[in-house]
Amino acid sequence: MTKEELALEIIGRLKKEYPDAGCTLDYNQAWKLLVSVRLAAQCTDARVNVVVEDLYARFPDVDALADAPVEEIEKIVKPCGLGHSKARDISACMKILRDDYKGKVPDDFDKLLKLPGVGRKSANLIMGDVFGKPAIVTDTHCIRLVNRMGLVDGVKEPKKVEMALWKLIPPEEGSDFCHRLVCHGREICTARTKPYCEKCCLNDICGKKLV
Ligand code: SF4
Repeated sequence: MTKEELALEIIGRLKKEYPDAGCTLDYNQAWKLLVSVRLAAQCTDARVNVVVEDLYARFPDVDALADAPVEEIEKIVKPCGLGHSKARDISACMKILRDDYKGKVPDDFDKLLKLPGVGRKSANLIMGDVFGKPAIVTDTHCIRLVNRMGLVDGVKEPKKVEMALWKLIPPEEGSDFCHRLVCHGREICTARTKPYCEKCCLNDICGKKLV
């Protein structure tokens, strides 16, 4: 099986296994996802979902958050870790949305990438989830799983994994595929040395490169 064929087979099987997989960060407006993805660095999505409730109760829109003192934001987001740098990025980011984009999140990858605290992973997540555009989100689950499966060979650097996957994954499948990798990585192909291959739907086609 070529890597392209393997990718299509994996996409199909994971689709059946996790038909409703989606983003596990709660948001109802694009700017809120921007805030949440910044808070999610080295923090669980579940904790972020709780912390943002307090944040939005106090600062309910882009203008309020852009005007908020960084120390006030920091006090609220502290439970997510890295409170100071996250608060500083969120503040700077909201100011740019307010001043340059009329309070809206730009639907352009390169513009997203220029926002404070937004890297390729976050920009891809927003392009896929908010704007329904092609996206490959290379988080820790994605990188671990595609290496184990044999879709990439010993590539750990997120941008290199992303570039390799763009060649294998049909663009319209990328965003959902990455959400499904997260589900599969949490439930079956866990970070332990010995994942649950015996109950994995990919058992007969996976490269099982468990190094
Ligand atoms: S067969 Fe094992 S290594 Fe491969 S995806 Fe499934 S759990 Fe992970």
